Amino acid sequence: MDDLLKAACAAKQNAYAPYSGFRVGASIRSAGGGIYSGCNIENSAYPESMCAEAAAIAAMVGAGEKCITEVLVVGDGEYLCSPCGGCRQQLYEFADGNTPVHICSSEGLRKTVTIAELLPHAFGPQNLSTTKETDS
Ligand code: ZN
Repeated sequence: MDDLLKAACAAKQNAYAPYSGFRVGASIRSAGGGIYSGCNIENSAYPESMCAEAAAIAAMVGAGEKCITEVLVVGDGEYLCSPCGGCRQQLYEFADGNTPVHICSSEGLRKTVTIAELLPHAFGPQNLSTTKETDS
């Protein structure tokens, strides 16, 4: 996990957060073993801002990978910097319920949860499948 934390902290240093001042870094490990990171990118038109997790996913997909095996998010402050609701959905698109999400501060790990814990009863690609599957 140290490699993920190092990548996320490096990305966090490049965060563009002039409005909130709240910088976030995220990194993901793909099934191919690659590590992709991203930072939050704010915009003066606030809704056009991008979360660090979404930036990391964009880097992974852009590199031709589509399967996340591990996620790490790092942010500052006393509260856990867990992925926002939108990012939970975006992560689930390329992961599964058992995928670990490490929530860290710059000093290290604070908590590890799974995607299923963050997004129970998730709507995902399985819902659009033409084959009938049971709820998992
Ligand atoms: Zn988010």
